[in-house]
Amino acid sequence: MYVRALASVALTFGAAVAMASCTAGPTAPQPPPTSMPTAPATSPEPPQFEVNRVLEDIGHLANEIGPRHATSKAYLDAADWVEARFETLGYETARMDVDAPAGNTWGVNVGAGNSPNVIAASTGFDPTEPHVVIGAHLDTVPVAPGAEDNASGVAMMLELARVVADDSRPVLFISFGAEEPRGPGDDMHHFGSRTYVRGLDDAERLAIDAMISLDRVGVEGPEVPVCTGGRGTTRVREELGDAARGANIPHVLCDDNRTSDHWSFERADLPSARLGSIPYDGYHSARDTPDVVSRDQLGRVGAIMIGWLRSG
Ligand SMILES: [Zn+2]
Repeated sequence: MYVRALASVALTFGAAVAMASCTAGPTAPQPPPTSMPTAPATSPEPPQFEVNRVLEDIGHLANEIGPRHATSKAYLDAADWVEARFETLGYETARMDVDAPAGNTWGVNVGAGNSPNVIAASTGFDPTEPHVVIGAHLDTVPVAPGAEDNASGVAMMLELARVVADDSRPVLFISFGAEEPRGPGDDMHHFGSRTYVRGLDDAERLAIDAMISLDRVGVEGPEVPVCTGGRGTTRVREELGDAARGANIPHVLCDDNRTSDHWSFERADLPSARLGSIPYDGYHSARDTPDVVSRDQLGRVGAIMIGWLRSG
């Protein structure tokens, strides 16, 4: 239901851009038709995954925006930034309101409020046609700048969006609000992804080939964790494992990970998996700063994801 709204928002956005360029027109000289460049004989090489871009975005979220708990002003600043980044990459975007209740997040009392999901897709995206969902939560616990948890996942998602922008496989990217717990149990966790899943109608559910949560993907470990929660299909996990093998990247499969947004999809019988979750000292603390992430680990996760996206 919601993603149909995405189309109308996108159309409005597109129309606004068209009008802006029209009204700027009258005094601007028009180039003669003979100056039009000729089309290249071959299409250009697809963009390469660049770890430097991921590190730059992690630095922005952790250092410039800083701690951004789900209902804070900083969270809304981060959502604005992510939305602008997607639009710069050529995507159309929309927001979904996410009600987050008051609660206690990792020892700090937090108030109720809106923690919007930011959703991005290519022009013409149809949520009732087969597609994959790539998600990463944007919020942090109140004390943490969240370089690893989860600027790493958001920055990875943005770089993937840049690299596959012209690929044919339809991808819906979602920056999720309010992932971090506000109390005990599944009902006080993962509000953004649960809100998204709840809004799907039958045709949209059937169209989701896979959902992957990128959550804590930058801390270096001996292997890249590729996980499910142990309840639903393991197909997506196996596919990611195949992509890791294909790229010669050490990885470990697990089936007991329920602490990220893939769990909202798995609980709703939608095929999903999570990449990431290496333990580290700065977890949910003020020490979750950009120095905790590893260029090599980000490169491994990027290679798995690009391999998987281009295998489908
Ligand atoms: Zn996280």
